[in-house]
Amino acid sequence: MIPIANTVIQATPKQIKAMQKTYLPHMSDKIPPGAIFAVKKTGLSITAYKSGKVMFQGVAGEREAAKWGTATTPKAKSTKVSTSVLPPGFASKNVAGSDEVGTGDYFGPMIVAACYVDQAMMPLLKQLGVKDSKAMTDPEICEIAKKIIPVVPHSLLLLPNPKYNELQAKGMNQGQMKAILHNRALENVLKKIAPVKPDAILIDQFAEKNTYYRYLTKEASVVREDVFFATKAEGLHLSVAAASIIARSRFVEAFREMEQELGLQIPKGASSKVDQVAADILDTKGEETLQRYTKWHFANTDKARKLSRRN
Ligand code: MG
Repeated sequence: MIPIANTVIQATPKQIKAMQKTYLPHMSDKIPPGAIFAVKKTGLSITAYKSGKVMFQGVAGEREAAKWGTATTPKAKSTKVSTSVLPPGFASKNVAGSDEVGTGDYFGPMIVAACYVDQAMMPLLKQLGVKDSKAMTDPEICEIAKKIIPVVPHSLLLLPNPKYNELQAKGMNQGQMKAILHNRALENVLKKIAPVKPDAILIDQFAEKNTYYRYLTKEASVVREDVFFATKAEGLHLSVAAASIIARSRFVEAFREMEQELGLQIPKGASSKVDQVAADILDTKGEETLQRYTKWHFANTDKARKLSRRN
């Protein structure tokens, strides 16, 4: 197994333009679907997607991503994962897969979805537009989610910010919360489809296998049979692609709800734009309100306090 650094940031259209300029001499002419540009350099490849996501891969990936100042992952270590090798023909097996969203975003909940997709379901899902959601815009994701939710056996778990903050304050790290949610979502799906059993389980990897299972030592029941871990798993099986779409669409909905409640536009990610909005909420609604909608331990809290007019 070769460890690969893989950092995703959420960039503004302006930043993407600036990146295009910076990396102009290294532009690749192989651009994946849904991408704006792709860069290939020694030890570094960068892909920018229409959704604003920019993926930095390779040994220099994490350092390069940091230059753009919007790295959305508070624990850089957790983005260093390795891909396990999947058995041949994996994409056409009957698989339960899981993925999460909201871990690098200051505002909004953490959400995990798991889906079961068997061979018979695959043509329909492809027809409905299920594919790697990194290449899709939010409205596209929500449109497809609406169509697949009634037909795909799935479990959707949302960890509200107050609960997240409570667990975090008790010393639980984000990786552990993720592991618990993935395990529970997968278990729910296995119960839904019983007595049918999947050929395999695929988890979009966020931690080494041993770490993942260490995080689950206090769980009453742990899914262990035929479990595979892979990074960018939404491109490896439709079950993870579907899970990613369902989780993302709920995340978009959560932002809509927050925006309605707060009467403000809420940016995703953890950039300086996020700090400014957080400071506005501090000034107009106070700390308790801000805390209710955010992952409080992120560095954004301190930055917002410094920007707040009250200081
Ligand atoms: Mg993922």
